[in-house]
Amino acid sequence: MQDGPREDAYDVVVIGSGIGGLSAGSLLAKEGQKVLVVEQGEGPGGYAHSFKRGVYTFDPGISVFPQGHDHALPVAVLDYLGTRDRCRFVELESNYRAVFPDFEIETPFGLDEFIEAHARAFPNEAKNIDAFFRLCRTMHKQAHELPPQLGLGALDEAAKRFPTLFKYINATTQEALDEHFQDDRLKAVASVSWPYLGLPPSRLSYLTFSTVLSVYLEGCFYPEGGFQSLANALAEGMQHHGGELVLNTRATRIVVEDGHVAGVQFGDDGQEVRCRRVVSNADAAGTFEELVGEDQLPAAFVKKLRRMKPSVSAVIVFVATNLDLRAHGAVHEVFRPLHFDHDQTYEDMLQGKPGGMFGTVPTLASPSLAPEGEHLLIVHSLAAYDIGRPWPGEVERYTDEVMTAFEQVFPGLRDSITFLETATPLALERHSRNQRGAAYGWENTPAQTGGKRSPHVTPLDGLFLSGHWTQPGSGSLRALVSGVHTAQMVLSSLGEPGIALDHPDLPPAG
Ligand SMILES: Cc1cc2nc3c(=O)[nH]c(=O)nc-3n(C[C@H](O)[C@H](O)[C@H](O)COP(=O)(O)OP(=O)(O)OC[C@H]3O[C@@H](n4cnc5c(N)ncnc54)[C@H](O)[C@@H]3O)c2cc1C
Repeated sequence: MQDGPREDAYDVVVIGSGIGGLSAGSLLAKEGQKVLVVEQGEGPGGYAHSFKRGVYTFDPGISVFPQGHDHALPVAVLDYLGTRDRCRFVELESNYRAVFPDFEIETPFGLDEFIEAHARAFPNEAKNIDAFFRLCRTMHKQAHELPPQLGLGALDEAAKRFPTLFKYINATTQEALDEHFQDDRLKAVASVSWPYLGLPPSRLSYLTFSTVLSVYLEGCFYPEGGFQSLANALAEGMQHHGGELVLNTRATRIVVEDGHVAGVQFGDDGQEVRCRRVVSNADAAGTFEELVGEDQLPAAFVKKLRRMKPSVSAVIVFVATNLDLRAHGAVHEVFRPLHFDHDQTYEDMLQGKPGGMFGTVPTLASPSLAPEGEHLLIVHSLAAYDIGRPWPGEVERYTDEVMTAFEQVFPGLRDSITFLETATPLALERHSRNQRGAAYGWENTPAQTGGKRSPHVTPLDGLFLSGHWTQPGSGSLRALVSGVHTAQMVLSSLGEPGIALDHPDLPPAG
């Protein structure tokens, strides 16, 4: 790894090496731009940066990745960069298991199969189940077909062409559930995957819920060896095409001259490199407030930024065990709601109790993460950054409550732990510099979803955003896709032809 930039000037400096920063940086390097990525952490990947504890390898912030199929855009990007062989996506056997207090369901991939599994559990509402999940698919399809940049004049036409999308575009997930189902337990079961998006159905954008669910139903993957292999494949692809990655280096200032980006300062001594474009993969508010300075931005933009709300954070409990989790019914993802009322779960979370929990067993897909005969269980539990008490004093109690919840899923777990460590929102904030340890960028409310997130193109000439604070939204896949969009826009702003990759999901150049 290089310990500083080799040049004084670059075409593009990327701040942050999360998946969104790396996808933008690698594609820009591939298209011939001189790229420098600066990363404050000790390795690339952001929330995808795996870490080692003795013989174990853990992922801090991603457990599943949709679209690892051979024909999907992420794989095509790796292929295009020449590093596809560096990241092997293992297809997961089943979608998720959800263990409620006195009910459980295991769901398969495939829309028809998913509908059938729910209809078997709630036969009286089989027709409603079919209608609800097919509506999710229609929303996803129409959102996918909607042109990315719609002028005001084109809105009426789009509303006619995509009536379902426009009918529900501002709906919450709860509104769609209430419209379709009678049984409150069914509503809870159908929306049990809400923790993937950080908000309970009553506040979660239905557009976001339905598109994410539909994409996940097409199949999910885990990169062999952990998510670091995805980050490494992108980073190596960038370096292979002449891009540079500098670690342990925090950007402290985006230099602005005559209203245009002119460079980036970093490190304790304020070292500066010149550049024509900056892509920020860092926290959006931090980018504008700390790196740029509000005096460089239009007042209306700053006002809007101040109204945006970040998503919740998480507590993550990292467990290694010699219990045979597969024999205990483990699948890759297990949701563990302690109530049928998701609002109650969210309230628990705000009070500092575990809530919105999902446990991942990555060793089913990638056994090499732990020694033979052992499994890893990573429990993600949504958490407020501020619970009115210091987090360090809460760790023992919190971990104990999480272990109690998962002991009921895997009896014998507590007595067979070989490693246990807990990360709080403070650690997430420290490692990612996402404000308040935000797990998913901006909150996924209807008011902050899709085109209402921070745009890639900013009011500061030459500054672009990439990652989960911008469009299309949160999650590793969408962070990667946002990098592809950003790369296209940066190339266009430089008067260059777009990315020369032939793929149906590639956003248009310019
Ligand atoms: C607990 C948890 C579970 C999750 N589970 C999933 C999941 O299963 N599937 C999924 O798809 N998504 C999941 N997510 C969400 C997903 O991890 C994120 O949405 C996505 O990885 C964000 O990627 P990003 O590119 O926006 O940037 P980030 O991963 O946030 O990375 C930003 C990078 O910028 C760097 N940086 C910030 N400021 C500076 C600076 N000033 N100078 C230099 N570097 C800087 C940071 O160090 C970091 O490396 C989860 C998130 C969490 C927290």
